[in-house]
Amino acid sequence: MGEIKGFLNYKRKKTGYRPIEQRICDFKEVELVLTPDDIIKQAARCIDCGVPFCHGAGCPLGNNIPEFNDMIYKGRWQKACEVLHSTNNFPEITGRICPAPCETSCTLAINDEPVFIRHIEFQIVERGFAEGWIKPVIAAEKTGKRVAVIGSGPAGLAAAQQLARAGHSVVVFEKDAKVGGLLRYGIPDFKLDKSVIDRRIAQMLAEGVEFQTGVEVGKDISAHYLNKMFDCICIAMGAGVPRDLAVAGRGYENVIFAWDYLSQQNKLCCGEQLEGRAISAKNKSVVVIGGGDTGSDCIGTAKRQGAKQIYQLEILPKPPETRPLDTPWPMWPRTMRTSSSHEEGCERMWSVKTTKLSGTETTVSELQGCQVEWLKTLKGWDIKEKDGSEFTIKTDLVILAMGFLHVQYDGLVKDLNLKLDGQGNIAAKNFQTSRPDVFVAGDSTLGASLVVKAIDTGRKAAEQINNWLLGHKA
Ligand SMILES: Cc1cc2nc3c(=O)[nH]c(=O)nc-3n(C[C@H](O)[C@H](O)[C@H](O)COP(=O)(O)OP(=O)(O)OC[C@H]3O[C@@H](n4cnc5c(N)ncnc54)[C@H](O)[C@@H]3O)c2cc1C
Ligand code: SF4
Repeated sequence: MGEIKGFLNYKRKKTGYRPIEQRICDFKEVELVLTPDDIIKQAARCIDCGVPFCHGAGCPLGNNIPEFNDMIYKGRWQKACEVLHSTNNFPEITGRICPAPCETSCTLAINDEPVFIRHIEFQIVERGFAEGWIKPVIAAEKTGKRVAVIGSGPAGLAAAQQLARAGHSVVVFEKDAKVGGLLRYGIPDFKLDKSVIDRRIAQMLAEGVEFQTGVEVGKDISAHYLNKMFDCICIAMGAGVPRDLAVAGRGYENVIFAWDYLSQQNKLCCGEQLEGRAISAKNKSVVVIGGGDTGSDCIGTAKRQGAKQIYQLEILPKPPETRPLDTPWPMWPRTMRTSSSHEEGCERMWSVKTTKLSGTETTVSELQGCQVEWLKTLKGWDIKEKDGSEFTIKTDLVILAMGFLHVQYDGLVKDLNLKLDGQGNIAAKNFQTSRPDVFVAGDSTLGASLVVKAIDTGRKAAEQINNWLLGHKA
């Protein structure tokens, strides 16, 4: 423990964001950073509580949080960087965009503000890169085994890095032009600058990982080919099927999925060619349907494109400001969260349902909706439309950000005849699918989740693959 009573001496300090009027004019990262002096005080707030729920129950990766807090306080940054990397392949990414379940389970959070763990993580890894401490970790011996990783999101990248470091030959196949998955084409640059991904990929290339981009497995190359060429396959294809909106008028051209919208802007930001005409929110009244993180990213993007007005519609009730009784500490609570994009300007509506979209032949111009009530029944929850609560919103662009259903079945999953679980994700036991030589990690098996869980399952799948390969015939 760094400083006894540090939690009494120092308050949690926010990083804050760049001024709104400045940040909405570009796509650069919005979050500011604390000074080295501030970060030592933030680390000093850790009470090293003996049973660190942040590490055991909060962080899916099991990051050794009290240890690195103590090291920062004592100026042992290089050791802290090593400790951080022992559980997390990409702390520079979680340090930027993790919702930090570790912090809601921090013991201080029972009656005070938690330790600012996410930002401490960010500071450690950024210092590590700046000082040149983060170097390629090259396997001392090669095993002669070949593994194909399908998908280059955080799950595929974590699995590939772990497997290459264990001495296996790893090829990552990615259907998009560049690697990164949703980190690259989903999450906007203002939350995660893409040079952060490139910096880590350079390390992975030096470690011997091979990337084949622009290759869709199941279409450009077959499952049969992979079986012949590799000892084992790790599927990390994400959960690419978006939830759709089943209302009249869904077919209008300007009713689009969030993924199509965000990926276009991300491509524009890095100078990639677009296949079709760019969809822009400039001077438009935009309705984002879906109150989650993806919806929030659409708001920030539309704001930067110059939207006239932005609405965000959510069917769930407005969450409480403080931790509700049904999710006591150290659980992850459903509380009201306001992102940097929300602060930039939008109208948020809760407990609302879209009932119809109307417009001209091809273009939506009006959204019709109503308020809903959530009624608890013996079987769960029922939604009831409130009489007389109907409303309309004039709109020029409707963006559907209602999450993802499951992995894409056509192609690889069908060709390999993999079993699915009750939610439609790829079924697995210890990350091994219904085919012994095929493993799975990330959203493909979890359903749409978080980056930290994708990294965690990528690491765990790699461990299982390694055990399986080494126990396999020589
Ligand atoms: C807009 C948005 C914002 C988000 N923001 C956050 C956030 O702030 N914090 C957070 O923790 N999480 C966030 N998430 C969730 C997070 O991005 C995902 O949980 C995570 O990326 C899942 O990782 P993955 O590796 O399983 O899959 P993905 O990142 O989806 O990567 C899968 C990859 O597989 C490729 N692929 C698919 N099929 C094939 C095939 N047949 N052949 C070759 N390649 C294939 C895809 O092109 C893709 O690159 C966000 C998600 C979205 C959509
Ligand atoms: S990865 Fe996320 S949950 Fe884990 S310590 Fe970092 S911020 Fe917390």
